[in-house]
Amino acid sequence: GATLGVLGGGQLGRMFAHAAQAMGYFTAVLDADADSPAGRISHHHIRTAYDDPDGLAQLASLCDAVTTEFENVPAVALAALAGQCPVAPAARAVAVAQDRAQEKAHFVACGVPCAPHAVIETAEQLAAVPTSLLPGILKTARLGYDGKGQVRVQTAAELAAAWVQLGRVPCVLEQMLPLAFECSVIVARGHDGATVHLPVQRNLHRDGILAVTEVHEGNVPPALASQAVEAAISIANGLLYVGVLCVEFFVLQDGRLVVNEIAPRPHNSGHYSQNACDVSQFELQVRTMAGLPLVQPRLHSAAVMLNLLGDLWFTQGDTAQTPPWEAVLQLPGAHLHLYGKSAAKHGRKMGHLNITAATPEAARATALQAAALLGIAPF
Ligand code: ATP
Ligand code: MG
Ligand code: MG
Repeated sequence: GATLGVLGGGQLGRMFAHAAQAMGYFTAVLDADADSPAGRISHHHIRTAYDDPDGLAQLASLCDAVTTEFENVPAVALAALAGQCPVAPAARAVAVAQDRAQEKAHFVACGVPCAPHAVIETAEQLAAVPTSLLPGILKTARLGYDGKGQVRVQTAAELAAAWVQLGRVPCVLEQMLPLAFECSVIVARGHDGATVHLPVQRNLHRDGILAVTEVHEGNVPPALASQAVEAAISIANGLLYVGVLCVEFFVLQDGRLVVNEIAPRPHNSGHYSQNACDVSQFELQVRTMAGLPLVQPRLHSAAVMLNLLGDLWFTQGDTAQTPPWEAVLQLPGAHLHLYGKSAAKHGRKMGHLNITAATPEAARATALQAAALLGIAPF
């Protein structure tokens, strides 16, 4: 049988492997962690660093195609692999997504509005930042996720201090925008350039981490939703992207749509598709890699996704306690996904709970019950 490979052994790789295996593929994972969520359930687990040439050669020799689940996998590793087997998305597209300065330049080139911003790589650039960008958020250009590597600044003095705090690495300062809400779109683009997408999902972040995603017809006003889908497709087309791409957006209080960032892989905000759509984001990933047909997924249920962070294991104190799954699973339409991570830690993504229902009201009511049982604040 054919084998599909993934660089990175986290939960996204694990759910990719589930989808690939369901469709009859063998899976291979490259991740140095012997206990990685994806490595543990795959047919092959290569335990080396992402940039180890021997590990990459071994992965290539095992696989008919390779993808990545880890945003910060070195683009050079992908480029090295590409000489040995088909790789999607391409190193070039991943490199753009890995660097906020390049990412913003790509948005501008595609004609998709993004936050007013300035690239800060030198003390001179820092001194020249226009005050119109303040208050703002200083973000490291590379390696940030879940709100890490970001400092909110009010004044030029705070900005200067924040740049020092972040280690004087290349950064992007973004103007702080007045958000009404956030949404995102999952696009899949095939080798032939054909695209399909999931319905636009509405996201609630807490402390810089995705907490809740809600999806149902009309949850994002239709005109905004089609604008978001169009923007996401033009961003994917501009990268000649092959694979699954998530595009995150802000909707401002005046109703304008502004792109935030992209993730070159399935995304936490698309997890609801596992239970609420007839094709999940992970099946789309398998299809793009394997050159299988892409069909437009259909949302068949209203959905709410609750992220299950490690904090929920510590609602009783400092000793980790298993959350009350039995009570949660009594609820109609509750689908529990756990990533098989060995230890719960604060802020660590341990799993998610998808709630599906026939109506948005029912999905929300059940999700609020689940949240109350788990110690998640109401939304
Ligand atoms: P992810 O885990 O999604 O990759 P990240 O660390 O890359 O997160 P961002 O998406 O850049 O972080 O920002 C995290 C959150 O901070 C956003 O979802 C939004 O709630 C808020 N935020 C970021 N930039 C701005 C901005 N310019 N104006 C207002 N809020 C912002
Ligand atoms: Mg990000
Ligand atoms: Mg983000």
